[in-house]
Amino acid sequence: MLKNSSVKITVIGAGPYGLSASAYLRAAGTEVQVFGEPMSFWENQMPIGMCLRSSWDASHIADPSHQFTIDAYCRDTGRKLSEPIPLDSFVEYGHWFQQKVVPNVDHRKVRRVDLLDDGFKVTLQDGDFLRSRRVVVATGIGGFTVRPEVFRSLSLEMASHSSDHRNLRKFQGKRVAVIGCGQSALESAALLREAGTGVEVIARKQYLNWVGLHPKLHRLGFISKMLYSSRDVGPAGISLLVAMPHIFRRFPRGFQNRTAYRAIRPAVAGWLKLRLQDVPITFGRQVLSAKPIDSRVHLRLSDNTERIVDHVLLATGYRVDVSRYDFLSEPLLKQLKTQEGYPVLGRGMESSAPGLHFIGKSAAWSFGPILGFVSGAEFASTEIIRGLANWN
Ligand SMILES: Cc1cc2nc3c(=O)[nH]c(=O)nc-3n(C[C@H](O)[C@H](O)[C@H](O)COP(=O)(O)OP(=O)(O)OC[C@H]3O[C@@H](n4cnc5c(N)ncnc54)[C@H](O)[C@@H]3O)c2cc1C
Repeated sequence: MLKNSSVKITVIGAGPYGLSASAYLRAAGTEVQVFGEPMSFWENQMPIGMCLRSSWDASHIADPSHQFTIDAYCRDTGRKLSEPIPLDSFVEYGHWFQQKVVPNVDHRKVRRVDLLDDGFKVTLQDGDFLRSRRVVVATGIGGFTVRPEVFRSLSLEMASHSSDHRNLRKFQGKRVAVIGCGQSALESAALLREAGTGVEVIARKQYLNWVGLHPKLHRLGFISKMLYSSRDVGPAGISLLVAMPHIFRRFPRGFQNRTAYRAIRPAVAGWLKLRLQDVPITFGRQVLSAKPIDSRVHLRLSDNTERIVDHVLLATGYRVDVSRYDFLSEPLLKQLKTQEGYPVLGRGMESSAPGLHFIGKSAAWSFGPILGFVSGAEFASTEIIRGLANWN
């Protein structure tokens, strides 16, 4: 029971960012309360059988002493992980990290954050609440799914977002159209096909962007270090630039946007290539209409062809929009300065609402694309600790 207790910092979210920031804050001797279901996004909203796109070195959850890496997890538990890292192994690693480093996570959801004169009132799903001088929002992208207009009239049984599924085997024996051309779309298509589903990928783009087709480039010692950062976000050169968020954010906005797009544009990991051999991909087409016919879906494409499918899987990604944080009160939202839906952040990842901080993908407009990946958590956590020195 928390009722009416008070803490210095509340972290909302127990994914890689929330856990990492909490590890840093605890190590700095700061009183911190963490809320959220540990690793829930990875555990419930990504498909069984998926593998991480990020490399081994870019998938450690950061702690200040670098003691709780994936290597340490393997040594401690005797597990042997393969690369690409399987999703279920990463989830287990995340739970191990949480139990070792942030054992006191409160699994309840935060329902509301209200402004007080000297901080915030944080109310939980069951009505319990506490006061907090500062709040760090680390709730990830789960609330920002994009569902294109053309599919809005279809029920969830007919058209769902890729994040709605944990087990794609439920589509065995059905026909599914997958919309999109990024990793999520193509990996879902491979998993569907392997589960005995009739699948077709429909993509607006004319081709797939592949990444990691030349893994040797990452194993050339000094030469690789001159081309790529171990953070593993973006192609040669760009990878180094986006790994330095304080430098990256000084460039003109147009350059930042173009570079960020180049770093994280829809792309597919090279190791999926073989598994996609038998998956039909229709390039350069848009779905113009999607209508229910009995229990199936009729799609009309931009080349005037039609498809009848049992289900449409929208691997159409996520778009940050702070107004969709359902737990931030109206007055708090009004105080937030935003750009393109993202909160504008300064030192210590602090927003224009004093004491309210954002880490993870929401921080990407201010600090660049690395903040959308596990490997950006070290920067975010270090930045919060730097801010601590100036906070009361
Ligand atoms: C299919 C897919 C594959 C990906 N693969 C990779 C990859 O290989 N490598 C990589 O680096 N990144 C990958 N990403 C990006 C990944 O989402 C982020 O790197 C990572 O999840 C960011 O961690 P996070 O802590 O910000 O958010 P999350 O992991 O989403 O954690 C959010 C946390 O907030 C909690 N929460 C949410 N709302 C509330 C609330 N109201 N109250 C309390 N708690 C709340 C949740 O329970 C959870 O604990 C992938 C994304 C997708 C969709």
